[in-house]
Amino acid sequence: MRGFDSIERIGVVGAGTMGGGIAQVCAQQGYDVVVRDIEREYLDRGFENIEDSLDRLVGSEKLTREEADAARERLTGTTELSDLADCDLVVEAAVENMDIKQDIFADLDDAVPEDVVLATNTSTLSITTIASATERPELVVGLHFMNPVAVMKGVEVVTGEHTSDEVTALAHEFAEALDKETWESDDKPGFVSNRILMPWINEGVRAFDEGVATKEDIDRGMKLGTNVPMGPLQLADHIGLDICLDATRTLYEELGDRYKPAYLLKRKVDAGDLGKKTGRGFYDYE
Ligand code: NAD
Repeated sequence: MRGFDSIERIGVVGAGTMGGGIAQVCAQQGYDVVVRDIEREYLDRGFENIEDSLDRLVGSEKLTREEADAARERLTGTTELSDLADCDLVVEAAVENMDIKQDIFADLDDAVPEDVVLATNTSTLSITTIASATERPELVVGLHFMNPVAVMKGVEVVTGEHTSDEVTALAHEFAEALDKETWESDDKPGFVSNRILMPWINEGVRAFDEGVATKEDIDRGMKLGTNVPMGPLQLADHIGLDICLDATRTLYEELGDRYKPAYLLKRKVDAGDLGKKTGRGFYDYE
């Protein structure tokens, strides 16, 4: 296994909400980063988001202009997976779909040297099943960042059936090098975070759909009542309704009826109203 001290160059798969954030925090901590997405336009959008986020950090004096510019210079984008061949660690943050993740991991297994750790940012999918697409399941680990990555401190390290203790330790060490704090979860549906969070969001959607209260009052009630920064419907818009639906479906398939996705969540996703990223979810962001 390529150890922590030899990690200089990070590969990130997916330039969306999470991949862009992961690439950004790696670059801020001095790593060279190569980001791969399937289309040039998705890369361009991802890099615009990173630049906006760096500008905001400069605006709030959390970074100097020089530090932000240096981080930006460490980032490159590509549409070719083979450009990740010289990376020392890869973090996958593509869409939450098992077939797509398994295809990506099988391709990474061919493209990236056999001693390189392959991490996935999956919200709920099995690390063990993703790892089974590779010849190196002991080097596959969950590295589950929280959204927005540049702001949120927590990273959940998830161990698959074959993940080695060295790789688990490396995952913690790497996250800490990104100025994050970690906790560990076994590879069980939803891990710690989403096993508890997604039913909360789903019940918020159901309460709204069933007319228990307005969406504003559901969010206000949970914020004022439990001291969370966002209510369930605001948080769903923030995460992306498609991501919430995929995650809830996985929990439902694995754990049964109590996790069945709310009908309104499915209807919103079918309508293309995915939350902040499309300008409309439960709230309007135009
Ligand atoms: P997103 O839709 O914003 O971005 C996904 C990106 O992956 C898109 O740019 C898409 O073009 C790209 N992509 C699709 N197939 C690809 C492939 N074969 N190779 C490379 N790129 C590909 O999604 P996101 O919110 O960034 O989520 C990414 C992952 O992170 C998912 O597994 C999700 O469950 C997880 N996650 C999301 C959140 C959240 O709050 N959004 C939080 C934690 C974890």
